[in-house]
Amino acid sequence: MKKIAVMSGKGGVGKSTVAANLAFELALKGNKVGVFDSDFHGPSIPQMLGGKKDIRSIKKDSIEPVEVNSNLKVISMEFLLPKKDSAVIWRGPLKMKAIKEFKETVDWGDIDYLIIDLPPGTGDEPLSIAQQFDDLEGSIIVTTPQEVAVQAVRRSIDFSRKIGMKVLGVVENMSTLTCPNCGENLDVFGSGGGKKMAEELGINFLGSIPLDPQIMESGEVGRSLMEIESDSSKAFKDIVENLKKEMGE
Ligand code: ADP
Repeated sequence: MKKIAVMSGKGGVGKSTVAANLAFELALKGNKVGVFDSDFHGPSIPQMLGGKKDIRSIKKDSIEPVEVNSNLKVISMEFLLPKKDSAVIWRGPLKMKAIKEFKETVDWGDIDYLIIDLPPGTGDEPLSIAQQFDDLEGSIIVTTPQEVAVQAVRRSIDFSRKIGMKVLGVVENMSTLTCPNCGENLDVFGSGGGKKMAEELGINFLGSIPLDPQIMESGEVGRSLMEIESDSSKAFKDIVENLKKEMGE
């Protein structure tokens, strides 16, 4: 089983969207995939994957993840919340205990990939989680093109290097918006910042994803973006190909 962490320097750049669609694409290609949503304060993966909001079953010694389809399973903090709107107000040690519990007791079965959606930033939480999963293949760092986001990614890269986690590559999200009426391309958040930074730092660039209402909508309803042929689904497919190359597959 290859374990891949998806991280970001800051929130709202599309980290969970990337994690969800990578999982959809890997599963579509016939791989058995698990997604572990460890973002306590904004667990959005279940909604994006369309996983029902119940842990399938908690046995004496194991927890069965929720099945999204025959190739895709998910486990999330959200499944433990009493209500969808409940906020997690836990202190660090409790959160770490929950992560450890999940790590040790979730029965993923025979899976090829485990995608771990880390909390944003480079604080205590992503650090402890990354350290608990000490056999990670590496991390994917998601950014948007503008300088404030790219700056935060530099910290994520530094973070990864300091804890000895390989950076598999950078994904630039929300790159270009193509106007549905006139076809003109708009670079709402600038363009190329992620690629330039990756080149500067000698990090692999996995690809860019357009800013596209379809990406947002598919996330809202929990549908795979890969079901429809589009520039956006092609962008994710290319990223998965590049990722596989980076992992020597
Ligand atoms: P993060 O995990 O970094 O906090 P999310 O993946 O939750 O970010 O994305 C934040 C919001 O932006 C979500 O509503 C998501 O659907 C939307 N979004 C992410 N990427 C794109 C994109 N490329 N085009 C349009 N909307 C996007």
